[in-house]
Amino acid sequence: MNEKILVVEDNPQSRMVTVMTLSPCGYSLLEAGDGEEALRVAERERPNLILIDLQIPKVSGLEVVKRLRETQWAGRVPIIAVTGLAMKGDREKAIDAGCDAYLAKPFSIHELRRLVKETLEQSGGKEA
Ligand code: MN
Repeated sequence: MNEKILVVEDNPQSRMVTVMTLSPCGYSLLEAGDGEEALRVAERERPNLILIDLQIPKVSGLEVVKRLRETQWAGRVPIIAVTGLAMKGDREKAIDAGCDAYLAKPFSIHELRRLVKETLEQSGGKEA
């Protein structure tokens, strides 16, 4: 079965670009536009990897990551944080919150694909 990737991003254009970049790689893509939807879709679909913009409405990206890490199923699901305005300390905050990797916008198609592939490989298919 294809690995499921949840793309959390409030900007519809950016979300579409990300989905179109990753779907040719054979993943099944799921989408969420805010933090509440992200938690709902993640709980229902249990994706193999989550790519999350930290600047999203309703529940912040960092809060979503913290809440996911408290659940049993998502304790170890690979999470890649994405930020728009590369603020100093973003990477540290993302890693502290429990993210596995970090990607600053703008990123290239190649960077995104490589990071997703590497992060999935590192997680080693430990899914229950
Ligand atoms: Mn955003």
